[in-house]
Amino acid sequence: MSFSLPEAGSRRARAGRINRQVKQPLIGVLATQGAFAEHVAALEAAGASTRLVRTREDLEGLDGIVLPGGESTTMTMLMERVGLLNPLREAIRDGLATLATCAGMIVLARQITDGMADQRGLGLLDIAVRRNGYGRQVDSFESPLNIEGLDGKTFPGVFIRAPLVEKVGNVKVLATLDGNPVALKHGRILALGFHPELSGDLRLHREFVRLAGTHP
Ligand code: GLN
Repeated sequence: MSFSLPEAGSRRARAGRINRQVKQPLIGVLATQGAFAEHVAALEAAGASTRLVRTREDLEGLDGIVLPGGESTTMTMLMERVGLLNPLREAIRDGLATLATCAGMIVLARQITDGMADQRGLGLLDIAVRRNGYGRQVDSFESPLNIEGLDGKTFPGVFIRAPLVEKVGNVKVLATLDGNPVALKHGRILALGFHPELSGDLRLHREFVRLAGTHP
């Protein structure tokens, strides 16, 4: 998978640390709520070191961050409460590599079409999502996905009360399911509507660890 460069003028680029490669990147996993333990295990198996992120101080020195699945409303509310939402937005905008899965993708989205009235997330990814867009009957399902940039073999997509991506703007679609985008990329952001940490397949975590370890 080839990830494009982040916007010029990021803090790292300004500091002159161009093209720095980190062998064992330090990846934070947002741990306010949700399925974070499985991401920690997958990231470590993929060669990263990890840190649970619960406060703004925990963002210091990270090479990347994972926004896990869970409940996007609760996640956003808790981040707001501890003063993490704004510093996290700034860090991602500044080029912090980000893997967002399921609720994490909702938190990143610019527009939530069925959100609570006051559900304001990070608003950094140019997509509109319907939080529970797959409805009740198909609450959870598994489907093989063809993801651009992987080795050609399908990826087991585990979907749990998955968000439906209804509109995409300035974002690259890496995979679709029945015509709807389920894997997206923008700069150093990788957003997935499914749960790679529950699939037993480490390929996407490995790609993300590589991305996080490459500082443009
Ligand atoms: N639909 C959930 C939400 O609104 C996300 C579900 C998940 O992360 N598996 O946050």
